[in-house]
Amino acid sequence: MEWIVNGIYLLVSVLFIVGLKAMASPVKARRGIAWAGVGMVLATAATFFVPGMRNMALIAIAIVLGGGVAWWAGRVVKMTDMPQMVAIYNGMGGGAAALIAAVEFARAEVHGPVVGTLAVLGSLIGSVAFSGSVIAFLKLQGIMKKAIRLPAQNLINIVLALITIGLGVWIVLSSMGTGSANPFLLVLFFLLALALGAVLTMPIGGADMPVVISLLNAFTGLAVGFEGYVLGNPALIIAGIVVGASGTLLTQLMAKAMNRPILGVLFTPISGEAQAGGAIEGRLKELTATDAAAMMRYAEKVIIVPGYGMAVAGAQHKVWEMAKLLEDAGVEVSFAIHPVAGRMPGHMNVLLAEAGVPYEKIFDLDEINAEFPQTDVALVIGANDVVNPVARTDKTSPIYGMPILDADKAHNCIVIKRGRGAGYSGIENALFYAENTSMLYGSAQQAVADVISQLKQLG
Ligand code: NDP
Repeated sequence: MEWIVNGIYLLVSVLFIVGLKAMASPVKARRGIAWAGVGMVLATAATFFVPGMRNMALIAIAIVLGGGVAWWAGRVVKMTDMPQMVAIYNGMGGGAAALIAAVEFARAEVHGPVVGTLAVLGSLIGSVAFSGSVIAFLKLQGIMKKAIRLPAQNLINIVLALITIGLGVWIVLSSMGTGSANPFLLVLFFLLALALGAVLTMPIGGADMPVVISLLNAFTGLAVGFEGYVLGNPALIIAGIVVGASGTLLTQLMAKAMNRPILGVLFTPISGEAQAGGAIEGRLKELTATDAAAMMRYAEKVIIVPGYGMAVAGAQHKVWEMAKLLEDAGVEVSFAIHPVAGRMPGHMNVLLAEAGVPYEKIFDLDEINAEFPQTDVALVIGANDVVNPVARTDKTSPIYGMPILDADKAHNCIVIKRGRGAGYSGIENALFYAENTSMLYGSAQQAVADVISQLKQLG
């Protein structure tokens, strides 16, 4: 039986890897998710046949309960709430990995120093990922103030980390050869690790959240991989390594997109209430949907920059309808996506793909930034931080150095937003006050619909 189970685990690992590879392409992503899902079902089913497996009824109840809640949540959660859902599910993975280690210690089975160390490492990283993800969820959901910084925050972080690691080392040493650890110390260790995850994530706000979300994702993968080793479960090891490696790469990508070193994110976070240092010159100028439509209708080249506001308004279908009208009138239209636009990696790509925008019209920051100076109109729809030129010009700004989409370099810039609301980082945007920028106030869905009706009148 054992070799059949291991054979299935091998197949599962292949499905995970092939699925992940397919997810890298927007065309094959749906298929990739289906393959990985089949892998997950197979892995869960195979676990029932692992020799010596007990408590089948409890496992079945947990699967029905967990699967039921996930199925329900997957159906009812709104597209705009997806980032929070991803954060909380990521935390569940980390928490589950930590619990596996707790159960292993509670069973007090004899194990060597390697397994003991991996169990403790997995529970430390898994607990940090769990409580950190809960904090990230609360922030993205708007329940928690964006950044809460304690006095002597860095000192607290370092002391807490050292005590927790020290306790972990003590647990490994004291349980060596027997596998049993003092239950009081174990509980204390888990509580400290959970507190560490919370205090590390609480001060992170502003524009740094994408980096921390992907870092927590990488942590979960690592924790799952370690616990897979503890349990001797190859599917868990491979799934954990795949998540850990892809999460690490994503963290690097996000950190690069923000031009922030990862240690800087953890120890010198951007405050959510930070303001740009230098005063912003210029004034806000309003234009009507009629003017906006005419400006774009008689342009040669228009670049659309979507952001979080387009997602909130669910305006992607209207945006694509407007782009098609412009194209029919002979205007060249492209879409520019910033790596951290929206509230989760790939947020804008998913929405535009859902609306049917062809992939060849969607460009990354590196591909399109050089085009803005030759562009007649940059149309910014519900984006803010990702087009804020202070990141380029104001050394005192907390987002100084973050690469931005150069919408301000287009001949004209039109910004659609509801009012004077700041972006996620809480920083005022110099683009809105620039000489060549005009504001079209309104919710993205309605504002774009108004432009569409004006474009239709222009013919
Ligand atoms: P921002 O959050 O900077 O700005 C969104 C803008 O949309 C606001 O200024 C708001 O202004 C406007 N808006 C809100 N609702 C609507 C609506 N219904 N219609 C029209 N406009 C609306 O968005 P960006 O996409 O530019 O930047 C993303 C930010 O989020 C970055 O700071 C990034 O670091 C952060 N972040 C990104 C994550 C990721 O993984 N991508 C994860 C977590 C955070 P107003 O209220 O005036 O309408």
